[in-house]
Amino acid sequence: MLLPCLACDCRLRPDEYFDACHDYNRARDVVMWTCPRCGNRDEIRVFPGELGFGYARGRRFDVQDRVPVPGLRRHRYELRLEICLDGRVWRVLSRELPSPGVGATAS
Ligand SMILES: [Zn+2]
Repeated sequence: MLLPCLACDCRLRPDEYFDACHDYNRARDVVMWTCPRCGNRDEIRVFPGELGFGYARGRRFDVQDRVPVPGLRRHRYELRLEICLDGRVWRVLSRELPSPGVGATAS
């Protein structure tokens, strides 16, 4: 099974595809995805059994297109999303830091 980049129409294997996920946004329940071929950035939502593509509207995310991914699972945590497929796990970390004190004293 191959997953599409909607910008350049390339097809990627799931490991290549999910390695390109970063910056989990828990409020909108999306991850940022940067295409390793064309560099296009998209927000995607991971559902059980499918991926959702759409548009951010303020703090919301409206899903327009869904791509079935049989066996896909996800676990939402406070500061990361875990994506599970075929016995593999990808951990997508949030950009929000747990404690704003550490390392943030430079002025
Ligand atoms: Zn692309």
